[in-house]
Amino acid sequence: MAQFNSGDVLSLCKRRGFLYPSYEIYGGLAGFYDYGPLGVTMKQNIIDLWRSIYVLEEGFIEIDSDIVGPEMVFKASGHAENFQDLMVTCKLCGEGFRADHLAQDFHPNPGALSKAELQALIQSENITCPLCKGDLSDIEEFNLMFKTKIGPGSGRIGYLRPETAQGIFVNYPNLYRYAREQLPFGVIQVGRAYRNEISPRQGVIRLREFNQMEAELFVDPADKSWKRFAAVKDEKVKLVPNSDEKEIETTFGVAVEQGIIAHETIAYFLWVTQRFLRRAGVDPTRMRFRQHLKTEMAHYAADCWDAEALLSFGWTEIVGVADRGCWDLSRHTQYSGAELMAFKRFDEPKEVERDAFKPKYGLLGPEFKAKSAKVGKALEGLEVSSLKDGKVEVDVDGERFVLTDKYFDVVRIKEKVNGIKVVPHVIEPSHGLDRILYTCLEHAYSTDGEYTRLGLSHESAPIKVGVFPLMARDDLDNKAMDLDRKLRESGIVTYYDESGSIGRRYARMDEVGTPFCLTVDYEVFENGTVTIRERDSSHQVRIPFEKVVDVMKALLDGKSFDGIA
Ligand code: AMP
Repeated sequence: MAQFNSGDVLSLCKRRGFLYPSYEIYGGLAGFYDYGPLGVTMKQNIIDLWRSIYVLEEGFIEIDSDIVGPEMVFKASGHAENFQDLMVTCKLCGEGFRADHLAQDFHPNPGALSKAELQALIQSENITCPLCKGDLSDIEEFNLMFKTKIGPGSGRIGYLRPETAQGIFVNYPNLYRYAREQLPFGVIQVGRAYRNEISPRQGVIRLREFNQMEAELFVDPADKSWKRFAAVKDEKVKLVPNSDEKEIETTFGVAVEQGIIAHETIAYFLWVTQRFLRRAGVDPTRMRFRQHLKTEMAHYAADCWDAEALLSFGWTEIVGVADRGCWDLSRHTQYSGAELMAFKRFDEPKEVERDAFKPKYGLLGPEFKAKSAKVGKALEGLEVSSLKDGKVEVDVDGERFVLTDKYFDVVRIKEKVNGIKVVPHVIEPSHGLDRILYTCLEHAYSTDGEYTRLGLSHESAPIKVGVFPLMARDDLDNKAMDLDRKLRESGIVTYYDESGSIGRRYARMDEVGTPFCLTVDYEVFENGTVTIRERDSSHQVRIPFEKVVDVMKALLDGKSFDGIA
């Protein structure tokens, strides 16, 4: 097999209609790519596979939320202030670069360095502009959010979402109700996300507009065991733990037992991710999970792993699986005032201790007269956490009263309760769809310099069967078209081709990853059979014309080619 690079893969993608650099007739726009006809179908196949795993097998529910959101949402999520990369600008040509990208040749993981550490590295290594060798500015923070205005006039500030996840968090009360107020429950969303990347590059790996498939699993913070984990714990996995950053091969079960993976729920969803990626067509020998270094991990994250694929650019993150703790829901509670909690029902009522307000009725009476009993009751019903600067607000009969702490004491009480309210923790597998699709293409790509083949998985391949008449005459074309229509009507995507030699037609299908081809030749009139050819082995067998649809369905469902002969 000849060596190739990402340029070869991207040029095939463009030539054969998978991916087109956007706005080419206007000179192009860095960080934007369009999906061509085959790319759209392949992308949809990957989404369908992912959805079937999460919705059908794992029981998640799905939503589709807005791309534009008001500023408050992204203040709460932290993105408006903190979603930034460190940037340097060339003093000569004015080009901006991500500081950690420029430091890549000088440090094994520059993404984990602080601003001061990166600055020191750039200075000590005399790093200059990669384009013109000009001196670089000091490092600055660059916010990646796309800002916009909502409505006319000065308008409200809005942002394009930098991840789909926030749409799930802000819908939590609706989703919790839909999930019949029980933990755990999981929600998925597929859609566009926007990040004004400083230096978009590497084809679709770093885009400014990209596609995500995110899953948010809401769990009891006190119970991160996972029932279905027992069934997968002996499956093998390649891990790069943050303890010594060396790749190890182990099982999910051992990794949890040894505390390498924080808990069963994360481990189970790493397994789900691994299985999904393999089925989509990621080469198992070129993928692994790398644990975030403590310095890389968001401060709220209990554990975080990236599924990485080995590409011509080196190891690249394609999925992130994180335990986000209670960060998101707590922050949205703080900013919106909405209660984003779950009620954990006990098997038996339990006696618990808690702090509570004890009204001083002797002082409330003279002040609130006839309403004093109601004011006292309202106070008893409030959480002590609502106390701010020694004051608390109560609502009685549509009126709001502010009470200073002379009207109450805070006391420790014991009471019998049926359950408690908790802020659920969130486990998030977040998938970069464009990166996954590109990985499947690059891992499937092989060439000897002249003949190029894409060994796409059956599930991802945009075209499942090429249908050819040996000759475009003698009724062979009509027979082949009949077969083509039957296959399409049964939901199988085909490509009918009657031009050029059969070898040339096979080559065209091999180059776009079509797993099977059917050729209708003269034998169809003699014994009613056609030829089916498997891409990967180039083996051919004859099958009855009438059975083609059933055979194709079985093959696409995973039946072995040798088994049909
Ligand atoms: P993150 O929220 O940064 O963990 O991103 C989740 C996933 O989205 C990553 O694992 C990537 O696969 C993908 N992703 C992040 N940023 C980009 C980008 N600029 N272009 C394409 N994919 C991205």
